[in-house]
Amino acid sequence: MAKLEIELFRARSDNFGVLVHDPETGRTASIDAPEEQPILDALARRGWTLTDIFTTHHHHDHVEANLALKQTFGVTITGPVNEADKIPGIDKKVGDGDRFDFAGHPVEVIETPGHTAGHICFYLPEDKLLFAADTLFALGCGRLFERPAKDMWTSLSKLLKLPDDVGVYFGHEYTLSNAKFAVTVDPGAALAERVQEIEATLNAGRHTAPTTIGVERATNPFLRPHDAAIRAHLGMAQAEDWEVFAEIRARKDKF
Ligand code: ZN
Ligand code: FE
Repeated sequence: MAKLEIELFRARSDNFGVLVHDPETGRTASIDAPEEQPILDALARRGWTLTDIFTTHHHHDHVEANLALKQTFGVTITGPVNEADKIPGIDKKVGDGDRFDFAGHPVEVIETPGHTAGHICFYLPEDKLLFAADTLFALGCGRLFERPAKDMWTSLSKLLKLPDDVGVYFGHEYTLSNAKFAVTVDPGAALAERVQEIEATLNAGRHTAPTTIGVERATNPFLRPHDAAIRAHLGMAQAEDWEVFAEIRARKDKF
């Protein structure tokens, strides 16, 4: 099994595009399809031919280029069974716990309802990669459009079971605004240090993706509703984890 190669780039106003390429077979997947031209440019840069699209959820900024790329490359589109009717060109419908093969690399589907009702993440356990799209961001999480906070907390709890060294690619470059919010609920030193690193990364013109499960576990307030300092700060010492999560999410919506 050869190491997968990844091409990360920006699309639309603040989306990330991601290509995943297996050098042995040439198979190449686009994680979502936010915009046709930046994906074509990325393929040309690397000399890759697109074979697959892995769709995480139905929002326009994640599926806009599905049909155009299908027409050009004849790609196979794998996407969420629970919102399959909203995914243009979908070929394979997958749901929680489904496993499939990408050029010899196992892929596991983790359903993460919250941002949308059918949102899925793609986890490659042997490659230690998670494609989390709009469920988990660096220092943030997706807005709750279609499911309540309690469901999103259950979804994020699934991702928290993954090992610390799993690399996490996510759907949007929201990291600086997430960081500005995060420090308003978490007074901790680990977060403050990370915010400085993020500013340095952005000032150097680099992307804040990928992150890792370990870094998010340590610093992302949306993953730390159990944290005593955050609870004290919110005056929620006795609340359930999901209730603390819901309060943090509600504050971010108003931030
Ligand atoms: Zn979305
Ligand atoms: Fe999005």
